[in-house]
Amino acid sequence: MSSTADTATDPVPAAADDPDRLWTVEEHLADILAKIRPLEPIELQLPDAQGCVLVEDVTVPAALPPFDNSSMDGYAVRTADVEGATEEFPAVLAVVGDIAAGSAGAAVTVGPGEAARIMTGAPLPAGAEAVVPVEWTDGGAGAGPAIAMDAHSKVPERSGGEVRVHRPVAARAHVRARGSDACTGELALAAGTVLGPAQIGLLAAIGRATVLVRPRPRVVVMSTGSELVQPGEELAPGRIHDSNSFVLSACARDAGAIAYRVGAVDDDAEVLRATLEDQLIRADAVVTSGGVSVGAYDVVKETLSGLAGEEGSVSFRRLAMQPGKPQGFGRIGPDRVPLFALPGNPVSCYVSFELFVRPAVRALMGLPPVDRTTVRAVCTDAVASSPQGRRQFLRARYEPGEGTVSLVGGAGSHLVKALAQADALVVVPEETTSVPAGAEVDVVLLG
Ligand code: AMP
Ligand code: MG
Repeated sequence: MSSTADTATDPVPAAADDPDRLWTVEEHLADILAKIRPLEPIELQLPDAQGCVLVEDVTVPAALPPFDNSSMDGYAVRTADVEGATEEFPAVLAVVGDIAAGSAGAAVTVGPGEAARIMTGAPLPAGAEAVVPVEWTDGGAGAGPAIAMDAHSKVPERSGGEVRVHRPVAARAHVRARGSDACTGELALAAGTVLGPAQIGLLAAIGRATVLVRPRPRVVVMSTGSELVQPGEELAPGRIHDSNSFVLSACARDAGAIAYRVGAVDDDAEVLRATLEDQLIRADAVVTSGGVSVGAYDVVKETLSGLAGEEGSVSFRRLAMQPGKPQGFGRIGPDRVPLFALPGNPVSCYVSFELFVRPAVRALMGLPPVDRTTVRAVCTDAVASSPQGRRQFLRARYEPGEGTVSLVGGAGSHLVKALAQADALVVVPEETTSVPAGAEVDVVLLG
């Protein structure tokens, strides 16, 4: 089946724990997703369930709307009474009641030659067959003052007022029939539905206060690095502000998670270990930044690669991508909480979250892991050199109208300003080492 040439270019299959193995982006993601289970469902209040996946079939407990009601402000009438009505020869009806939304309705009965003033959403009174919009009448000008009545079923006095109706109306016109939206017992929302605003609205309309959903994962975010200072604090020589913990928390929230930002931890194995232990109690996932390369103070790698037994295990590996080559992933603690150890360079950190943590957060929620759209676009800039054997992700701005994409900043993974100007990533494949201006490229749109 395979030619000699094919065999020659096939990478040698390497064991998962081979430290020299270069993992592809797909292999690393597949390894992560294979180790992630969706969170156990819980009952949540409607406002907290937004964006979550429903895990029960929700049926309609009672007809929606629950009663026949008016879709217009107007007059509830019997159709025979307004047959043939015109501007010149209006039907003159006695106004026998005033029905507001929220009134029980049963208090008013419309008999022959009668009409009841009715508001949008108010129950159609007995005897009435249709509603004449107020615009087709004299507005009840001759009807005297609106009949004072309690919105709840006090019998209105006969006002003695009249209304002139200028047009006939068909039976059921301007009436929203009981059950016309949803019938009792009908499926309102199927298990698996993602609850957006309209779905939350439907649940509320049928009277549900809580629903069974997969919750938002609680993602604990911490950066590591003794050089890090929190924003708002003075920088001492050699120090920089911690931006990663903010980026990662924002990314986590954007992916649907509840983010707990711990801030920055010094490059000290004991402090890191103790902080992780403290944080595990509230974590469905942990994301760290920094300390995963081969430098002298790369404590994340040092601390987590030696875990065993109850402590879990974290693998550190090299990926065939740029930025983001060093990555750690594993599960820690007795509950085997997924942990992502991302590289510290801000752009590497961001791209790594986008490619690996975002899908994992979605998998924890029971959502399809990969949700970003990839499009083809003409790249207005040349990529002079791209590393051979690595998939490169370059920051870019996409112009949907033109179908073009332009690079912002260079390949440097410290360029946070350019990252903030980008709304897409241009993907340069592993075996492509340069791209001429005007060539078509794959573009991942960043939502
Ligand atoms: P590391 O992966 O820890 O070796 O860090 C790589 C580079 O990213 C270094 O220049 C760090 O100073 C920088 N860096 C690490 N963590 C952060 C952070 N939280 N915010 C901003 N820059 C960082
Ligand atoms: Mg560091």
